[in-house]
Amino acid sequence: MATVIDGKALAAKVKEQVRREAAELPRRPGLAVIIVGDDPASRVYVNSKRKDCEECGFVSEEFALPASTKQEDLLALVGELNCREDMDGILVQLPLPRGLDERAVLLAINPAKDVDCFHPYNVGQLTIGEPVFQPCTPGGVMEMLKEYHIDPAGKKCVVLGRSNIVGKPMALLLLHAHGTVTICHSRTPDLAAECAEADILVSAVGKTGLITADMVKKGAVVIDVAMNRDDAGKLCGDVRYDEVAAKASYITPVPGGVGPMTRAMLMRNTLTAAKNHQR
Ligand code: NAP
Repeated sequence: MATVIDGKALAAKVKEQVRREAAELPRRPGLAVIIVGDDPASRVYVNSKRKDCEECGFVSEEFALPASTKQEDLLALVGELNCREDMDGILVQLPLPRGLDERAVLLAINPAKDVDCFHPYNVGQLTIGEPVFQPCTPGGVMEMLKEYHIDPAGKKCVVLGRSNIVGKPMALLLLHAHGTVTICHSRTPDLAAECAEADILVSAVGKTGLITADMVKKGAVVIDVAMNRDDAGKLCGDVRYDEVAAKASYITPVPGGVGPMTRAMLMRNTLTAAKNHQR
């Protein structure tokens, strides 16, 4: 039976370390969170970010704008926050309502305050192996591997999904950690065959029950990034947990796995931004 990778416990440990380091700075780190419209999932995420900031002793300021907000007004707010000395990080909660240009908004954020690590400058730094910030979700996965002494070096790593937020940066981090990385996506002809090769399998697709035990190599490390809802509305991942846990060596649960680590990494990035800013 697989060892369960406890993301909740590790996230608490990371946040406690962040809190301690933040307390030593001359000024409390500040995170500005912009939410546009009334998407309920986005509201939940923003609330939990506020709570994380409180736990870490950060100042958090929320800007809740109506869905009718014009592009130029949103850009003007980002511009103001770029200049605010007390705000070290700026986060625009995605997705933005239709009609707003997500890419233009992310480009407008000062890369030094881009704690989500979405700006092309930061993506470039990550690509060349000199990241200013860790992309939160993949960075959280790497922290989990480290905590459980799972070294990707020389291992066959298979990443399912190629989004800019999860799949691509995940593959890059595993590559930088000397894994041999395969990226799969919706056009991969034989997903099961690719998965069966994996020593470390990271699934970030968003399809409940996609990964069955017969797709997983015995003793593999299985990381489930997905946050799906099953028919009963319960949070679940891509992986059929019980059957895969019986075959894997390590596995992340959903909830309580990657999700809390993503939040903790955002706090760590905000601390990094504050340190760089106050240097
Ligand atoms: P996304 O942008 O929708 O990307 C999904 C990826 O899965 C795409 O690359 C897609 O391929 C691929 N895919 C779709 N069907 C597939 C199949 N049958 N076989 C193989 N690949 C397939 O989603 P995302 O933003 O990366 O998020 C992925 C999942 O992670 C979601 O469940 C999301 O909720 C979750 N998530 C969790 C966290 C966290 O903190 N735990 C953070 C972010 C996201 P194509 O590129 O070919 O379309």
